[in-house]
Amino acid sequence: MAHLQLQKVGKSYGAVEVIPGIDFEINSGEFLVLVGPSGSGKSTLLKMIAGLEETTSGKILVDGEDITHLDPSARDLAMVFQSYALYPHMTVKDNMSFALRMRGEDPSEIDRRVKDAVVMLDLGGLENRKPGQLSGGQRQRVAMGRCVVRNPKLFLFDEPLSNLDAKLRAQTRIEIRRLHERLNATSIFVTHDQVEAMTMADRIALLKDGKLQQIGSPQDLYLRPKNTFVATFIGTPEMNLLPGQVEMIDGGLWLDGSNGLHLPLSPERQSKLANAMKPGVAVKVGIRPEHFEMVPAGTKGAMEVRVNVVEWLGHEIFIFGQASFGPIGVRVPEGMATAPAANDVLYIRPISDRWHVFDAASGDNLLVE
Ligand code: ADP
Ligand code: MG
Repeated sequence: MAHLQLQKVGKSYGAVEVIPGIDFEINSGEFLVLVGPSGSGKSTLLKMIAGLEETTSGKILVDGEDITHLDPSARDLAMVFQSYALYPHMTVKDNMSFALRMRGEDPSEIDRRVKDAVVMLDLGGLENRKPGQLSGGQRQRVAMGRCVVRNPKLFLFDEPLSNLDAKLRAQTRIEIRRLHERLNATSIFVTHDQVEAMTMADRIALLKDGKLQQIGSPQDLYLRPKNTFVATFIGTPEMNLLPGQVEMIDGGLWLDGSNGLHLPLSPERQSKLANAMKPGVAVKVGIRPEHFEMVPAGTKGAMEVRVNVVEWLGHEIFIFGQASFGPIGVRVPEGMATAPAANDVLYIRPISDRWHVFDAASGDNLLVE
């Protein structure tokens, strides 16, 4: 286990600044998922931690010790890549024991550790095969085994599930999390997939253009997104963002006037909002697809939606349609008396307090610090 600190860690390739300077900490025993779109700097950051890329500025500390410019082999961490990077001419056993043999560990100790890892990763019977004789999922487990035997302080994963099919990905997610618990490890897991981030993380760090957008538990990012980028990156189908102006009229809150959309809210939230909002400022109201309720036709303050597409998923139904505010996505529970169909017209209203207000210019959430 290790406690990791990044202090203003920056990276430039020549004159191009890829990461301006990032600060965060990973607690001992934590599983942190670094997520963001392709090109946001996730691999670069991980490689700086591993020592595979030179750090341009700032400091990386492990358990208080500055490792910023230490040789990768002196860092006591192990990395699993998307490509697995196994030696094709070596057997499973030799691939797994390679680093230990290079380090000159005692052969009986190496044997013991490899045997443990084989059991832990369910690779029994495959010890003498070469990578070419294994499935993608098995190769991935060998790559993990190679890290496990080294008993490192810190595990780094760079999109290790990308080459697996959807079912195997879901299984391997659980296996990696279990491995993390069993080994009492500290792990950083990189992915571009928000579902992997939500399902695996103790905490998520969301990156965009080399900058940290938000760090927190999956619940934090989902329920209290700091800006429109976080709000729409996490959650699928994505949060609806309705443009307009929010006003208090006759004690009720409305988007686009009293003929627009009524936004139900509790008295507690009302005073918070009154402090945060400036009159006449353009906003975007963010509402997740599951945070609407259906209301009868003609209900004042409801939003009229003409249905374009219906996705039936068994336990839930997604409806994509058109409202006066623009395109809209709505989730309705399975078991509605009559499921909507294309060209139907529905009336929906946001559920009280389950909506956000973002500054239209900056994208900042006006109700989340
Ligand atoms: P991610 O892993 O999030 O997809 P990367 O860390 O690989 O992103 O890349 C972040 C940015 O750094 C990208 O814009 C990429 O083009 C740039 N980059 C990565 N490696 C190099 C390099 N060797 N030289 C120049 N730019 C690079
Ligand atoms: Mg990458």
